[in-house]
Amino acid sequence: MATSSVESRRGIVLRLVPQKESDAMVTCLGQDGYFSFYARGARKSASSALSSTMEGSLSDFTLTVSSGGSMTLKEGSMLQSYLVLDSYEASMAVSGLFEITLSLIMAEDAPKAYSRLLATLNAIKKGRDPYSMLFLYLCFALRLSGYGLDVDGCALCGSKTGIVTFSPEAGGYVCRECFDEASMPKLDPFALKMYRFAFRCGDADIERVSFGKEHLLPAFSSLCEFAYDMTGVKLASIGQILRY
Ligand SMILES: [Zn+2]
Repeated sequence: MATSSVESRRGIVLRLVPQKESDAMVTCLGQDGYFSFYARGARKSASSALSSTMEGSLSDFTLTVSSGGSMTLKEGSMLQSYLVLDSYEASMAVSGLFEITLSLIMAEDAPKAYSRLLATLNAIKKGRDPYSMLFLYLCFALRLSGYGLDVDGCALCGSKTGIVTFSPEAGGYVCRECFDEASMPKLDPFALKMYRFAFRCGDADIERVSFGKEHLLPAFSSLCEFAYDMTGVKLASIGQILRY
């Protein structure tokens, strides 16, 4: 005889995929990592599950777990919504955060991403610059996935002085001696500091900074290309930001 149990989980809804009728498959990130469940009638306007399963909701879920391990939503209660409707940049940044999470962060690393994702969403909700927050999260995700870049010294020779640029292809900082004009960008001191901060900051530090678009857009472009070369993942949401 099949048995089932009931489980409580808290998570941020990263993705909702519509299924037949008004059902949905919902993927969340919680403190123990990713989890997915089937939600019957979740897209019905009168459904109590509607708000808790919307992308961008932080919710408490009561789930029925079948003997085979698959989960179905029994009850959901939204604690906070990070869905942004009134700002293009904030809504693009939130989509970007979810795409970066799902496409770059592997299941085994996902528990470590929960607190950073929540801190980033809270910062955006409080009105911190959305693209700066997205940039810090992209660097965090690359580092967590094993693609962290060297911002302590020249990635090519180890020199701590004479740093003139940052090149993902070279592995991070590059000094004057190793600089190759043909293949590397020349960066100003602010951009160098921005990368150093981004690859080292903790959850509590993210709200301290804001970068201008003149520094962020080239950085997005260069890191997206790097992520694609390393993982084959094309970050569509950031591509859209760059084209806008
Ligand atoms: Zn060097």
